[in-house]
Amino acid sequence: MRLHAETLQCLFPSAKLDEPLKRYTAWKIGGPADALLEPTSAEEIEEALRTAGEHGVPVTVLGGGTNVLIRDSGIRSLTIRLAKSLTKVAFTGLSLTADAGVLYPVLANKTASQGLAGLEFATGIPGSVGGAVYMNAGAYGSETKRVLDWADVYRPEEGRISRLSNGDLGLGYRHSVLHERPGWVVLRAGYTLEPGDSEELKARIREFRSQRMNGSPNRPSCGSTFKRATNDSPGRLIEVCGLKGTRVGQIEVSPVHANYLVNHGGGSAEDALKLIEHVRKEVFDRLGVELEPEVRILG
Ligand SMILES: Cc1cc2nc3c(=O)[nH]c(=O)nc-3n(C[C@H](O)[C@H](O)[C@H](O)COP(=O)(O)OP(=O)(O)OC[C@H]3O[C@@H](n4cnc5c(N)ncnc54)[C@H](O)[C@@H]3O)c2cc1C
Repeated sequence: MRLHAETLQCLFPSAKLDEPLKRYTAWKIGGPADALLEPTSAEEIEEALRTAGEHGVPVTVLGGGTNVLIRDSGIRSLTIRLAKSLTKVAFTGLSLTADAGVLYPVLANKTASQGLAGLEFATGIPGSVGGAVYMNAGAYGSETKRVLDWADVYRPEEGRISRLSNGDLGLGYRHSVLHERPGWVVLRAGYTLEPGDSEELKARIREFRSQRMNGSPNRPSCGSTFKRATNDSPGRLIEVCGLKGTRVGQIEVSPVHANYLVNHGGGSAEDALKLIEHVRKEVFDRLGVELEPEVRILG
């Protein structure tokens, strides 16, 4: 649905119109949002969501933009970005509440500083709390599901916020119930951690970080493009098929890590999608394995 720019501006006065979304994605790819809103308070986002609901305006949510491929045609209607704003974290004993916009590496550091163990894995995940709940993000043998208690979710069909438990969220491998509920928005999440030694936790984080630096390409990407489908990692399957270095336009299967498709600058979503399809076809034809994208395609 294409709404008039004046209508969107009138409903959401602080939104930017026709805003290129490649500025907000890790892959540096993405056409324009009709309107992009970056709320700075919980009240502002709740009001925007209610207004959108009342006027039937479809809403797309972006967190850190680290696991999305936004089509070159961009995103219609309203896009709300919840990263870098809405960044409060509150601690009570072993529990904490984090706003949806808190970045996971920041949360890893904060919890380690408080002597709380369990979120060190989050240091390797560059997205937001909201995106991590949506994706059940994980690394180094752990995942969000292990430490998450609940998430407050705005449900447009009810026009209100509900607290969903870990179980209600249906968290699985890079999956949550939110994948089947477009328009549901995570506003904040609650975690319970274990007591730990702050210095040891920080050392663990440093160790995770240095592992990452050594094994990751140094160019814009969405991290792992494909989900794990067998005991073998997608990166190894792609490498076995001799696809490292395969290129469509400015997008290349990284020679450093084959599950990363890197952007050499100015790459388009069309080229990224073509390369994704090429890799899937080659891996299926040669090894009989069907790779499913982990990256979420928006627009
Ligand atoms: C270099 C690199 C390394 C990575 N390493 C890992 C890793 O080790 N493990 C891992 O799991 N992932 C990894 N990722 C992928 C990514 O960081 C995670 O999937 C992350 O959880 C996505 O969060 P985000 O805030 O960036 O979400 P986005 O990319 O902005 O959005 C992803 C999806 O979540 C939805 N979403 C975002 N916020 C909300 C919200 N508040 N409410 C409802 N829906 C929302 C979006 O609509 C979209 O469908 C990596 C990415 C990069 C670029």
